[in-house]
Amino acid sequence: MSTLTIVPVPILSDNYAWLLHDAASGTTSVVDPGEAEGVAAALKARGWRLSSILLTHHHGDHVAGAAELAAAAGGVPVIGPEKDRPRVPAITEGVAEGGRVRVGRAEAAVYEAPGHTAHHIVFHFAAEAALMAGDVLFSLGCGRPIEGTAAQLWRSIHRLRDMLPDETILCCGHEYTADNARFALSVDPDNAALKARAAEVAALRAAGKPTLPVRLGDERKANPFLRADDPALGARLGMAGADPADLFTHLREAKNKFR
Ligand SMILES: [Zn+2]
Repeated sequence: MSTLTIVPVPILSDNYAWLLHDAASGTTSVVDPGEAEGVAAALKARGWRLSSILLTHHHGDHVAGAAELAAAAGGVPVIGPEKDRPRVPAITEGVAEGGRVRVGRAEAAVYEAPGHTAHHIVFHFAAEAALMAGDVLFSLGCGRPIEGTAAQLWRSIHRLRDMLPDETILCCGHEYTADNARFALSVDPDNAALKARAAEVAALRAAGKPTLPVRLGDERKANPFLRADDPALGARLGMAGADPADLFTHLREAKNKFR
């Protein structure tokens, strides 16, 4: 049973920090506070006090508010990738593959998911069916392989896709969904699930609402980056029989060039 209230907080130009609140224990964590101000305001508006900070990777738009928020809350733990500690001084507790992190009564498993950055981690709250995905996976898209190869990112994404149940909600680091939908439709225009999601996304954005979180089960059908091993998509792209990692790499490069 879910014990957490999960709230996206729009910060910077298109980032989300995520508040995780366990009402019974009065515990609140924030995932990826790329700035302090917006997160502090969101906490204050709800009357929540910060208990810990979780970081998925070292990029400034995910960590820049951590030190200030931790200090303002009286020196709460900042939990992030052990291997990123040299470049994220704010981290006070390093975690790695197989680690566990508690937020009140809820518990997350830590998985390493390299590709976007070398040491990117994700937090999976199994009982809450929620994944703090950082910049590994977006709705209808995925992160750019900046410190790894696209093939490495595919392995990370493929593993999460096959490991996590359909009902898992993806809490991603950016509101990129409308842009991702345009690209996804350009490579997979006849996909009914994708067309339905694109329409939903357009309506949500027109209403000024977040498109996240999103169910993994829905993304499995609509997100081309989760379908690099789907023979139908391979055939559509003229790459029937190709290695899924090559198809994923092709998609990722095409997305980089897409306007
Ligand atoms: Zn990033």
